[in-house]
Amino acid sequence: MSEMKTALVTGANKGIGYETAAGLAARGYRVAVGARDADRREAAVERLRAGGAEAFGVPLDVTDDRVVTEAAASVERQAGRLDVLVNNAGISGPTGPGWGQDPTALDLDVVRAVVDTNVLGVIRVTNAMLPLLRRSAAPRIVNVSSSVGSVARQADPSVQVGPVMAAYAPSKSYLNAITVQYARHFADTGILINAVCPGLVATDFTGFQAPRTPQQGAAIAIRLATLPDGGPTGGFFEDDGAVPW
Ligand code: NDP
Repeated sequence: MSEMKTALVTGANKGIGYETAAGLAARGYRVAVGARDADRREAAVERLRAGGAEAFGVPLDVTDDRVVTEAAASVERQAGRLDVLVNNAGISGPTGPGWGQDPTALDLDVVRAVVDTNVLGVIRVTNAMLPLLRRSAAPRIVNVSSSVGSVARQADPSVQVGPVMAAYAPSKSYLNAITVQYARHFADTGILINAVCPGLVATDFTGFQAPRTPQQGAAIAIRLATLPDGGPTGGFFEDDGAVPW
């Protein structure tokens, strides 16, 4: 296998995930485009290649055990090991006036779907990819979270935190918490794992009603994916530094 480092980004067919893959490719990584839809996946791979990237597609629905297991086998076949995993795929669940995520009227199926993608999906993919990450000299894992997962900010009435989102926000709190558990488990192994908030980014996720570009949103994930040895682990970061838990 070549010495080129390989990075897998989940949900890399569009939005922040795509720009994270593009940014890592620009830094010399071979990028594995994890995406569940074949057409969208191949279109992203082609676009990345047209920009000079070494890229390949990996069928990946993070909610499907079998597909995730096959994705790990596919990465192993095509790259032999994994140096970076960016767990970016995520869903918000329904939002908007009248069908938001009021905790007193929460559809439990919405909670299940959001947690299955945003939390269990990350655990599923991370654990499936771990044997490949352990073959890297400097494995890095980045979990794309959100500052709405900051319980401290949500509980502070002086902080502007947007609408109540009783399924989505706690899913990211859980993601932050599990990031710490992984970091503790990985202590002294050289594996660095951190959670990041991309800020409010104009993507399908926000109906493109947000101030930041996907490139700007991807910057923090790229920074944590390319940490030097001895860098932080078990942290939660946005562009301006650490986010309170
Ligand atoms: P997009 O909706 O543009 O992209 C989400 C990506 O996740 C898509 O590629 C989507 O694939 C993929 N995805 C969703 N479910 C699955 C699944 N089950 N298996 C595989 N892939 C899946 O959103 P963003 O780029 O904005 O969001 C990326 C991440 O950033 C999310 O984790 C989100 O929570 C987080 N975030 C975003 C913010 C923002 O302002 N945009 C703010 C804070 C955090 P498909 O095309 O097939 O649907």
